[in-house]
Amino acid sequence: MKNIDRRTFMQMLGITSTFALFSQPFAFGKKNQPKSSRKIDISQFDKVLLPREHGQLTTMVKPLTRRYPSREHCMQMAAFFNEKKGVLIIANDPEGGTADWHIQPNSTLSIKFYETEPDVQVIDIEPTIEAAAEAYKEWAVKQFWIQGRKRAAPKLNFVSVASSSSVAAEKKHLNQVLETVDGTIGIWLTQWRSNPFDRKYPDYTPKEPVQLAKFFSYIAGHGGLAFSYLNGLLWDRELKNFQSIGEHIAVRTERQQTIAYNRKLDFLNYACPYTPLWQDKIVNARNSLKDINGQLTGGVYLDMLAAVAPMACWAADHGHVPGDYSAWRLGVRELLKKIDGFIMIEGCAEVYMDLFDYPLMHLYTDKVDTVNLWDLVYGDYVQALGWRLPKGVGRLQFEDTLRQSRAAGLKSYASPWMVSEPESTLFKRLLIGNSNKTKTKTSVDTRVKK
Ligand SMILES: [Zn+2]
Repeated sequence: MKNIDRRTFMQMLGITSTFALFSQPFAFGKKNQPKSSRKIDISQFDKVLLPREHGQLTTMVKPLTRRYPSREHCMQMAAFFNEKKGVLIIANDPEGGTADWHIQPNSTLSIKFYETEPDVQVIDIEPTIEAAAEAYKEWAVKQFWIQGRKRAAPKLNFVSVASSSSVAAEKKHLNQVLETVDGTIGIWLTQWRSNPFDRKYPDYTPKEPVQLAKFFSYIAGHGGLAFSYLNGLLWDRELKNFQSIGEHIAVRTERQQTIAYNRKLDFLNYACPYTPLWQDKIVNARNSLKDINGQLTGGVYLDMLAAVAPMACWAADHGHVPGDYSAWRLGVRELLKKIDGFIMIEGCAEVYMDLFDYPLMHLYTDKVDTVNLWDLVYGDYVQALGWRLPKGVGRLQFEDTLRQSRAAGLKSYASPWMVSEPESTLFKRLLIGNSNKTKTKTSVDTRVKK
């Protein structure tokens, strides 16, 4: 969870002023050179369709660069349109290797490949989102992340945000949710640890261990799935008993520096997902999520893993070639393979799609240039979750947001929402619940489309 999302959670906690927004990790592998590149003339087009999360359709004004595979460039494609025609570019890399897509408006698309030199496809299409999605889907469904996908996660009708650190408060709220919403629900627990949000990762000691284990049993007993928050990529320098391991698993720049999450939260450092020590730490944290009978919880939430773009790690003792970008992707894949149960994950990078169940895709849903590209390509295979709500949202605006989210292919009542107030407050303000109409709506269209 990056940037605005962390801020949203801070707001939920009533901490609003101290956390500034920074968009990029610093010391971002600047010296790493691509292995090959490809330039394509786009001078006759004025609009671009990009795979930013749900999709983005925008007039090209400023140069931009996006790195694949990540939430910001989740598919290996871009399409360019003018009034009369369009063109779809597919990188056509079956491994899903790291690549930077740079757009120079009225000039060129250049793609820098850091791992391989694929045979880029350039396909003439009608200048529409549907035409681009159809042509990309034809390619995408033949790739390993769809061909090898054998997951059987239930459709979730609702994902409740459990953002309080009190199990008793969350149980009370869950009962209200159960009265209101039909079908299978998820419960996303974000504040269950003994430490505050964004502090002391990877210490996943519960704040109220016995109450939490009982709550997990209660959730399972009501047919729900608990998704407790784990951060898949960050460790905290201020966690004293992890410092020496941290030094060994940290992502290293070419100068052997560690990489901070951002300047403000510089105590949070990136872990190299390729390292078995880090993988074990996260796997153990997940395996500690048990109910009162010792049963593993049905699911888990893994933050950042399908959102953050690969970084080159130059550590010499991690078992990968220093500077090899593929280590990041292969490490994330290895970690995901070791995680039991249903996985809700931040981001939607396609190369991990065979290894997760529910991508959380909430970051850009309030942007005016967001379009439903992802749903047209992958909506039949994977259930996307998440939507942002404006602060102080009113009932009409809320219902309008629900309509928008359904149009974008959300099949879980648009939850969990990202909003700067607890979900129970939304219920209190009658935005959700106490309405038969809302209850009816939630039971619609929740089955897997095949
Ligand atoms: Zn490494």
